[in-house]
Amino acid sequence: MSDNYLFSRLTAFGASTPNKAFATQPDTDAQSFGTTLNNALRLAAVLQNAGLKPGDRVAVQVEKSLTAIELYLATVAAGGIFLPLNTAYTASELSYFLTDAAPAIVVCDPAREAEIVPLANAAHVFTLDKNGQGSLTAALTEAVITPVARSADDLAAILYTSGTTGRSKGAMLSHDNLYSNAAALKEHWRFTSEDVLIHALPIFHTHGLFVATNIALVSGATLHFLKSFSPDQIIAALPTATSLMGVPTFYTRLLQDARLTPQLCATMRLFVSGSAPMLVDTHEQWQARTGHTILERYGMTETNMNTSNPYDGARRPGTVGMPLPGVELRIMDNAQDVAQGDIGTIEVRGPNVFKGYWQMPEKTAEELRPDGWFITGDLGQIDADGYVSIVGRGKDLIITGGFNVYPKELESLIDDIDGVLESAVIGLPHPDFGEAVVAVVVPSNPALTAEAVKAVATEKLAKFKQPKQILLLPELPRNTMGKVQKKALRDTYANLFT
Ligand code: AMP
Repeated sequence: MSDNYLFSRLTAFGASTPNKAFATQPDTDAQSFGTTLNNALRLAAVLQNAGLKPGDRVAVQVEKSLTAIELYLATVAAGGIFLPLNTAYTASELSYFLTDAAPAIVVCDPAREAEIVPLANAAHVFTLDKNGQGSLTAALTEAVITPVARSADDLAAILYTSGTTGRSKGAMLSHDNLYSNAAALKEHWRFTSEDVLIHALPIFHTHGLFVATNIALVSGATLHFLKSFSPDQIIAALPTATSLMGVPTFYTRLLQDARLTPQLCATMRLFVSGSAPMLVDTHEQWQARTGHTILERYGMTETNMNTSNPYDGARRPGTVGMPLPGVELRIMDNAQDVAQGDIGTIEVRGPNVFKGYWQMPEKTAEELRPDGWFITGDLGQIDADGYVSIVGRGKDLIITGGFNVYPKELESLIDDIDGVLESAVIGLPHPDFGEAVVAVVVPSNPALTAEAVKAVATEKLAKFKQPKQILLLPELPRNTMGKVQKKALRDTYANLFT
């Protein structure tokens, strides 16, 4: 074994075509693949000089920049394990991650250095700001490393899950977990070096770091690299782009912009959405406004991408399509396959599925079966044509008076009511029922009343499913990836019935 499995595969295009633009950014010159790879190998030399050994973790909490992408490649090249951390994490959260992961190197924003050094234990702390400046890049010389040999099963990254229940867990991802998924997605979504992909996602999460970045690296596509989501910058980028990867909120925000027209999207071939469910209404509006049908896919930190709507063929709103080539998916209830069309827990198996949770063998054993099936915790069903739909997270399932209520069924019904923008259905503690169904509804029309929603629920739903209360709110709480924070809603209204 002399090859660095992931690094050599992610950089094969760039090594053979160094002059091609890897990334363009507003107000700066394009950066080539050759420069990106060279910078990565120079950064890898800095990491090695600071003592990084194969298998060591490099914890990184920095603003989005091309240098941060190069640092990811540098860590992989040096045989390290890249560990990106959400920029929103506070000192007490960081303290947990840095103690748990025991990184050899920590890279943080200069503004947080004083706060982070005491939490970093014995790690070497470098700084890196949003412009790529800091002690990390100050240490660069012309020296480069030869990539350290690593095999398909060696770890390349640890990504902590968002930890909505209990402690965050570090999902261990191997070289082949990342490469196999990038290769499958490149084929499935037809990425080539002709593509220009708008990259406006954060790079501490699987979507922006792996899906968008790795696809561009393996296919030779150019990134329109934006520091964050800004409708103005996306509108400016669309006329020279071919593709966009976003969370549903990108699309709902862009739909509010009058400049979104078919002409603006004339060079585009693909709009991808994932990380959170997209409303059927958003799909339909996007179609009507741009002439393009959004392709929705489903994945998670632990598994990379699992399913995708087809590239050719019907992209069905409200579904996440079929398993990607090489990925198996089944719906289970009590360790049995459910009948066709029934709801159960989604399990997946394939080269995309992670190696377990960092230093949590019991958690790993609870969720990863010995034969490779991963219990995702998502509830889903498969229709007669093989399209998978996500019905919600298992923990969002409501059990009221002994009956199961799947929030998605109610949310779809409520979202279809005139004057409703969107909704979130949650279970709240209730003295009689255990949990009571509550619908949190965001009106699109200020004239909407709770009574109007109640009338539809009474007409269409079995009594046990009908919301005991309907709350009208101006918006739903969401995280940076656009996921509705049902836990925040449950916490806020915990005492509604008690
Ligand atoms: P994360 O690990 O942060 O990427 O979150 C993964 C979770 O996001 C999955 O387990 C799903 O619950 C949810 N998710 C991702 N993509 C979709 C989608 N297209 N539709 C519905 N839920 C999704």
